[in-house]
Amino acid sequence: MATIFSKIAQGEIPSYKVAENENYYAFLDINPLAEGHTLVIPKREEDYIFDLTDDELAGMVKFAKSIAQRQKEVFGCKKVAMIVLGLEVPHAHIHLIPMNNEADVDFRKPKLQLTTEEFSVIAEKIRVE
Ligand code: 5GP
Repeated sequence: MATIFSKIAQGEIPSYKVAENENYYAFLDINPLAEGHTLVIPKREEDYIFDLTDDELAGMVKFAKSIAQRQKEVFGCKKVAMIVLGLEVPHAHIHLIPMNNEADVDFRKPKLQLTTEEFSVIAEKIRVE
């Protein structure tokens, strides 16, 4: 059965798309820690990121880098954190989170509540294509 992230990449479940190519898909996290919090996934389903092949993993990081560069320009943040954690969705994903200090990437803090309009504007700003 397809994971929720596969359904998102296939357009069966809507998402605020940030970037896409043949092998990877990036979209805004629905429970963002910061404006622009983005998830990057491989289109090929794999639960654990280190079960990807070397080439798949390298390609995913390269794809994430292009998005992080955009996020840094758009949000003027000090850095973009690249974080892999969590057991919630069994589909490998990288969190890309614009940050100015370590507290910005504390997953225990309350998430931002954004409107549909706000999500759309943010995704549009980052969109690489
Ligand atoms: P993790 O496994 O990294 O702990 O959590 C998965 C992440 O995916 C969470 O940050 C959660 O907010 C996000 N997420 C879960 N379901 C959806 C969804 O349907 N749409 C989007 N955009 N994000 C989701």
